[in-house]
Amino acid sequence: MFEFTEEYEPLLREVREMAEKVIKPRAKEIEESDEFPWDMVNHLFDEGYLQVLIPRHFGGAQRDITSFCIVAEEIAKVSASMALLIIVQSVGTLPLLISGNDSQKREFCSQIPRDRLIMAFCLTEPLAGSDVGSMRMTATKKGGQYLLNGRKSFVTNGGIAHRYVVFAKTDPAKGRRGISAFLVDKGAEGMSFSSKDDKIGMRGIPSCSVLFNDVLVSKTNLLGEEGDGFRIAMETLNRSRPAVGAQALGIAESAMEIAVLFAMRRRQFGKPIAKLEGMQFMLAEMATMIESAKALVYKAAWHLDKGLPHATKYSAMCKFFASDVAMKITTDAVQILGGYGCLKGGNLERTMRDAKITQIYEGTNQVQRFVVAEQLIKEFLEKYGMGRDWSEFL
Ligand SMILES: Cc1cc2nc3c(=O)[nH]c(=O)nc-3n(C[C@H](O)[C@H](O)[C@H](O)COP(=O)(O)OP(=O)(O)OC[C@H]3O[C@@H](n4cnc5c(N)ncnc54)[C@H](O)[C@@H]3O)c2cc1C
Repeated sequence: MFEFTEEYEPLLREVREMAEKVIKPRAKEIEESDEFPWDMVNHLFDEGYLQVLIPRHFGGAQRDITSFCIVAEEIAKVSASMALLIIVQSVGTLPLLISGNDSQKREFCSQIPRDRLIMAFCLTEPLAGSDVGSMRMTATKKGGQYLLNGRKSFVTNGGIAHRYVVFAKTDPAKGRRGISAFLVDKGAEGMSFSSKDDKIGMRGIPSCSVLFNDVLVSKTNLLGEEGDGFRIAMETLNRSRPAVGAQALGIAESAMEIAVLFAMRRRQFGKPIAKLEGMQFMLAEMATMIESAKALVYKAAWHLDKGLPHATKYSAMCKFFASDVAMKITTDAVQILGGYGCLKGGNLERTMRDAKITQIYEGTNQVQRFVVAEQLIKEFLEKYGMGRDWSEFL
């Protein structure tokens, strides 16, 4: 059994208790109504989870990635949607933490906890998903300002977020090196929102398209330098992917719990189905996959917290592994419940729909495998590169 060091025990207990007491009773209602839960926002700000990575001197909780993962995992056990709320808030905050200058950090970071701002991250476009470099949105310089034009899709918190990190090309000829990142406030003239996407899972947390039609943005809202956008987006996702892995883990753990309890109670052929070999193999595989995913998620978090060189590899690895595990376990759990698994109303079929989404957002699992392979090649070039012709890998 995996255990955290003493440093993380109080947080683990605190978030687990809060999730059971406050989120669990609301989870079904949020799912069914698909309404954004503002009451949960207030609560999660009170607990410090919506400002989990923001430094204390800006009013944040100043936690590390390991803590971020603990929060995501424990909350996902009772509601994957509420874990998503916390993850996306950090995804919308990280660009500022990674590349904001002192005055941007002072102003914008402190506003998040003080004014209880909800953040959003606008990278994906209708014609540019995995291939971020092919984005079409432009940011054209106009005096000391930029004019933003384009359309972003699948923006989580779209329409309800107060502030948006928007990626657009300041130099379209340079491909991904021509992308820049901007902070744009809801209400900026020329900014509008499509209707809410009707998603299969993660209900209650909306996503939609965000349209920019000659939206004027001040130069002071540019994060980093022109052309830094792709790096900022990738560094952000590197840090948040373990939390998506942790979210998937929480989903898988809750599905396994339902399956084991059911299998212990349900009797067929004169005994509990948990004593049938076919069922036991499934339960054993579930438990083993969860332990493996957990080890990988927290290894990735630890690499990020320590600034170790292979963090990118572990971050991508744990995202695809844990979310594939969640998909497999939630599907198998439905199988174990037989006909009862096909009924709506319990929490189980919800876990299956939520798990599917974790395989897709924050970079699909195919793309994560590609990232891992590229990192592996890089490592091997560093180790064995001397004295050979590896030019086709460079
Ligand atoms: C619920 C939800 C919330 C989201 N929230 C946000 C958000 O807040 N902000 C945001 O910017 N985006 C968000 N997204 C978008 C998400 O990140 C993209 O959907 C994802 O990156 C994939 O892009 P795509 O949908 O355009 O698929 P595509 O990139 O078109 O991919 C289609 C298929 O092709 C495969 N594929 C693509 N390229 C390769 C390759 N090189 N090798 C092998 N296979 C490949 C993919 O794996 C996938 O199976 C969200 C998506 C969802 C579903």
